[in-house]
This record gives sequence, C-alpha cells and structure tokens, in this order.
Amino acid sequence: MITINENYLKLQASYLFSDIAKRVASFQEKNPDREVIKLGIGDVTRALPKACIDAFHKAVDEMAVDASFRGYGPEQGYAFLREAIAKNDFHARGANISADEIFVSDGAKCDTGNIQELFSQDITIAIPDPVYPVYLDTNVMAGRTLNFEDGRFKGIVYLDSTKENNFVPALPKEPVDLIYLCFPNNPTGSTITKEELKTWVDYARANKALILFDAAYEAFIQDESLPKTIYEIEGAKEVAIEFRSFSKSGGFTGTRCAFTVVPKECVAYDTTGKVHSVHALWNRRHCTKFNGVSYPVQKAAEALYSEEGKVQAKELVDYYLKNAELICTTMEELGFTYDGGKNSPYVWIWGNMDSWEFFDMLLNKAGVVCTPGAGFGKCGNGYIRISAFNSYENVVKAMQRIREAFGK
Ligand SMILES: *Cc1c(COP(=O)(O)O)cnc(C)c1O
Repeated sequence: MITINENYLKLQASYLFSDIAKRVASFQEKNPDREVIKLGIGDVTRALPKACIDAFHKAVDEMAVDASFRGYGPEQGYAFLREAIAKNDFHARGANISADEIFVSDGAKCDTGNIQELFSQDITIAIPDPVYPVYLDTNVMAGRTLNFEDGRFKGIVYLDSTKENNFVPALPKEPVDLIYLCFPNNPTGSTITKEELKTWVDYARANKALILFDAAYEAFIQDESLPKTIYEIEGAKEVAIEFRSFSKSGGFTGTRCAFTVVPKECVAYDTTGKVHSVHALWNRRHCTKFNGVSYPVQKAAEALYSEEGKVQAKELVDYYLKNAELICTTMEELGFTYDGGKNSPYVWIWGNMDSWEFFDMLLNKAGVVCTPGAGFGKCGNGYIRISAFNSYENVVKAMQRIREAFGK
C-alpha cells in the first residue's frame, strides 16, 4: 500500500488569495461598472530591461547553431554569471565572497524551501511572524513541527515582528539552531541596520546556530547605511547563508533566475560535535537534484551587471519606489501609520481595524485591493500590505480614490 507523508496533512491551507478573490468577485457583482485596482500582488508588472532582452535573444541564436550550441552547463551556474555576481554584489560592498561560493538556481523560493534538507530533524527553528510562508511550510512538510494550535505550530520559535519593535524581532529567549531572517522584509517592508544584524550574527556564533538570510529585496535599499548583504557584517561567513533573486531586482519573476551564497567557512555539526562544511553539503544536494539554469536565462541575468543593464535595472526599481512613495504620502495624509515603502516595494499600514475590516473598507469605498496582513501570520493582524508593483497611473488613480473615500 502506498502511504503518504502525513506531515503534509498538518499544512494549514492558505485561504488568503482565494478569500481575496471571493471578496473582489462579490464587489464586482454589486458594482459592475467600477474598475478594481489591484495593489495586493507580490509580482512585478514591468517588462524586462532591454539589456536582458538583447542578451537573451543573442543566446537563443547561439543555441540555434551547432558550433555555439550548449547542452548541460555546470549545475552551480556558468562562471560568467557567478563572477559577475561576486564582483558586483559582494566585492563592491566589501564582502569577500568568491564565485565558487555562489550557486545559481531557478528561484529563491526553491532554495529557501530546499535548504532545510541539510539539517537534522530535531533542530530548533526560529521563524519571523509575519513572514513569507515558504520557510514555515517546508519545515512542516519535513516533519519539524508538532500540532497547530491557536494559529501557530508547536515546536517552532516564532519571532514576533510588530510596531513595538519596528518589525525587527528580538533575539529568541530560548536557544535556537536555525534562524530565518528576511530584510528588506516581505510583507512589512522593514529594514535592519548593521548594528541590529550584528546582534544576530553574534548570537549565531555564540550558539553554533545558522542564519538563513533572504535578501530578495536588496535592490530596493536606498539608504546606503543599511546592509545590502549579511556578509557586510563581521563574522557572518561562518554562520550565514544568503538568498538572492533577480525576480524583483530585474523583473525576472517569469524568467526564473536566482542564487544562493554558501561561504566555504560556513559550518554545521554532526551528533558527535564534529564540524562539517555546509558548502560541501549544499553542493552535493544541488548537483544531485538540479541540472542548472538555462544558458539564455543566465546570459540575460549576466546582462543586468553590464553598464546599461545596471542603469535599466535601477530605472525599474526607481519606478516602483516612486509608486511606493506616493502610497506612503497618501497614507500619512490620511492619518495612518506605516512602515516600509522607503527601501522596499511594500508599504505596511495600520489603523484601528483588523486586517480584513481594513481590506473591506478599501475595497468597498475605493475599489482598491490590498493584502490583509493576517494572511502572513498571527502578528500580521491589524495590518495591511499595499504593493507598489503596478503602473504609476494605476497607483495615482488608487490613491486618489482612497483620498476621496476619506473625504480628502
Ligand atoms: C519574491 C520573493 C522571493 C523570490 O523568489 P523567486 O523564487 O526567486 O522568484 C524570495 N523571497 C521572498 C521573501 C520573496 O518575496
């Protein structure tokens, strides 16, 4: 008899996006002439930069000729891309990361989901709340959690991120082994300072723990004092893995290219306390289960590091940040408090309502769709996320309607 991995039965169905869709459909039925503006999506909306498209086309043409055709590439990614990443994303920030510490993949979602395979079943895991759901769900699937009670899994150490701590969680009171952090954060848009991040690196070093740092929104950081990579923090190479993606920085959500940095100094232990290289383990997993990102896609990603590619990618990010700024100023005018929106495409807003009340109000009064914060975890209740991923014209229209709904 074929039996299932019963851990899958513990997963909590996310009704978030289906609930949103239902409420939007019901609103449209009652207001057939009202155009709904969607600012709820975590997906980019603008075309790929021209430099990427040109490189993409050229690489496809190379594939059309026997002499320049390429079959399987290196599982870890082509050297041209890994070297461009090391130089531009790390050396330029004073972080000493070499090309062979970079693993190119088809997404940070897969990598943040797969990484937990390297670690034992009985480690203690710390996960922020609210959070990108992948970190928690992949540990549930792997059987690292107990029952779900009162909105939370037993066996997980939740790191509360609230307005009281500016959405940067405090160090856990109990010892933990694996720590997920995401800055600039999805959904809160909050950032972490070097000093704050150093407390986590120091904690990991003191406790033989490991930090999984998701920097998918790094490109949105405008404040030069903020860390763009965790490897700007002294001592981080021994205790941190970093996840990056071209999805939000280069508009690659549908093109698929990302990378994970596993420094050679990064270590974990076996039950006897013997030290092991996490780089070697990840390399083994990656080569066993993955055959590399397609050559044209890696060429397109490399083009983001060319002179024109850098300018065009910055234009993309600046476009969304201009949308975010308009969302922030409108919310401020209306007397709401918010975080994010400055170094992030997300604005995290709170008033005196629960998430769904807030959502319904914006939908019914203004025809604007946001994301209720409660969908990202218990601590997200009372908040909504407005995303800057849309056209400027639509954001202007949405903010105008919200102002009118409040009589301004
Ligand atoms: C969008 C996003 C990613 C990127 O995922 P890809 O699979 O590379 O598209 C990673 N982490 C967070 C928190 C995200 O919001």
